[in-house]
Order: sequence, then C-alpha cells, then structure tokens
Amino acid sequence: MTASARLLIVGPQGSGKGTQGVLVAEAFGIPVVSTGDIFRANIKAGTELGQQVTAIMEAGDLVPDELTSAIVRDRLSQDDAANGFLLDGYPRNTAQVAHLDEFLGERGETLDAVILLDVPREESLERLRLRAIEQGRADDTAEAIAKRLDIYEQETAPIIEVYAERGIVDRIDGVGSLEAITERIGAALAARGLAQRV
Ligand code: AMP
Repeated sequence: MTASARLLIVGPQGSGKGTQGVLVAEAFGIPVVSTGDIFRANIKAGTELGQQVTAIMEAGDLVPDELTSAIVRDRLSQDDAANGFLLDGYPRNTAQVAHLDEFLGERGETLDAVILLDVPREESLERLRLRAIEQGRADDTAEAIAKRLDIYEQETAPIIEVYAERGIVDRIDGVGSLEAITERIGAALAARGLAQRV
C-alpha cells in the first residue's frame, strides 16, 4: 500500500468531477490541482493571466496548451504536491497528456489512476442548468456549454483511450448519491493498492 496517490479525475462537464475530486483528495491528504479553478482565481484577482484567459473561457474554448501546461508544472512543483495530487480538468487533450508525461517522467513519476466519471448526457445537462442558477458562472451560458461538450467529445475523450491502454482507468458510475459515488471511487482506488489517509 502506498501513502500517496497521483490521480486524475475526468468526466464531462456536469459529471460532478469537481465535487468528487475535492472529497477524494481530502481522503488521500493530497491537493486538488484544478486548472479551471486556477484560471477563475486569476480572473477574479485581475492578474495578467486572468486577463489573458477571460474571453477564451467565456467562449468555452481551451486556453492554449503551452500556457496551461506551464501553469500546471509550476503548481505540481510546489511542496504540497511532492507526495501526490489530484488533477481536475488537466490534461484535456493529447498534447497536454504529452506535456504531463514529460514533466512526470523527469521526476520519475507516473499517474497511479484515472477516475472516469460516467454520467448520461441528460443528467449532466440538468446538473449544469442547476449550477448556472446556483453559482452564476460566466461560462455556463448555453453556447459555452455546447462548445465545452463538443471539445470534451472531440479532444478530451481520446485521452481516456491513451490512459486505458496503460491500464490505469477506473470507470465509475457517476449517478447516485454523493456518498455512494465517493465510495465507488474509494473502492476502485483501494483495489489498486492506493490507501486513503482517513
Ligand atoms: P473547468 O472548470 O474544468 O470546467 O474549466 C473551465 C474553463 O477553463 C474551460 O472551459 C477552459 O476555457 C479553461 N480550462 C480549464 N482547464 C483547461 C485545460 N486543461 N486546457 C485548456 N483550457 C482549460
């Protein structure tokens, strides 16, 4: 059993990956590294990076790979990520997978598991509709949602194949209560010998 874990959580928008990611990371005592959250925090703080990505995010497009990968490299180089981390929203295409492989390879590391949250399209659209009302996210407009769904299907879904070939994908049924889904994820990770801290 290892005491740390290098994880990635993937799923379409509205799959609940943000919520589950936080719970899983807490259980393992590792930080969540969410590129969407990093971008949103920079927009809120009015940084140069924030100004660079505002229009891109509002349109539902992807921030350029080099920029995104540089930010992730920086974040993963911080002390609290030395023994593990949970990536949410990165990598999002095969170019970013290559960037991450290169970075982890330099450190002699690999991802331990990729949690794929499976949620039917109608269910995720309904959750997004609620999120738009509750959180008022600037990129939860119908147009941006449709754009992100297209990008997910065309660019992000292929990364699952890449990781599946490495035998590290755990496909988790993402429908059910919050607790039930968290338990399914914990069980899948335990089956890989990944031990939770709590
Ligand atoms: P998320 O919170 O993961 O839904 O991300 C919100 C938005 O941030 C996306 O629609 C993109 O505009 C941008 N973004 C987040 N992660 C990435 C990434 N890995 N590559 C490029 N753009 C990203």
